[in-house]
Amino acid sequence: MIIDGHTHIFTDDMVCNKERYCDDRQFSLLYYGKAKIASAEMLIESMNNNAVDASVALGFTWQKEEYAHMHNDYLASVQQKYKGKIYAFGALALQGDMYKQIESIKQLGLYGIGEVAFYADGFGEEEEWLLGQILALAEKFELPVCVHVNEPLGHIYAGKYYTDMRTLFALCTHYTRIPIICSHWGGGLLFYELMPEVQKSLQHVYYDTAATPFLYQSGIYDIAIQICGKQKIIFGSDFPLLDCSRYLQNIEALGESKQCVLSYNIKKVLGIQ
Ligand SMILES: [Zn+2]
Repeated sequence: MIIDGHTHIFTDDMVCNKERYCDDRQFSLLYYGKAKIASAEMLIESMNNNAVDASVALGFTWQKEEYAHMHNDYLASVQQKYKGKIYAFGALALQGDMYKQIESIKQLGLYGIGEVAFYADGFGEEEEWLLGQILALAEKFELPVCVHVNEPLGHIYAGKYYTDMRTLFALCTHYTRIPIICSHWGGGLLFYELMPEVQKSLQHVYYDTAATPFLYQSGIYDIAIQICGKQKIIFGSDFPLLDCSRYLQNIEALGESKQCVLSYNIKKVLGIQ
């Protein structure tokens, strides 16, 4: 079984009239111009082409509450329409009332929160406070969270910002009652799991493989498993940025660990095991 743990879908109107939504600072930073976005149908088509059984459709961290609402209504409807094939995480708006937003994600029956990201202003003190608030509410409503984390070094690309590892580590160690998926290999947070006390504190933290072909050599899959174990790595493609086919060969090569990466771990996070 293959579950893609990191994809992004948007409403049909957002896909067809992308520029209309570029008055949202977070959205325009990532998607203004050529960057493509996809609808649920486009995701399902790609899944069929790659023999993917199910996908986690992540929301987006908007600036504007109105767009996050529209997005979540759509995510809930396609999750219902493609039952067992799409598991959606709710979108948030940085400007909105967090309590109400996360309560509504729970009421809509979405499976988690995220991808939480701070593209427009980066990860400063205000964002640290906000992420803490999101994690606290996620614990209250028992929802896993997917957090976007960039690697602090290397090439620059749209939406890349610096996340202080000590701050991220402190937040992750404070909110341990929910699974936290640190995307893009946690920006390298996972490498510190070679330190026993760090590993012990991050038992509820998972790392996804999103965007790997753009970021790391293919040796990272094996090395990551050696560092933190096969039960912590989640396959995610970042579709439509990248297609599943760019990952599956490397994950197939992991032998007995591959089923954990391809489905067991994300099932555990989603609570569908
Ligand atoms: Zn991301």
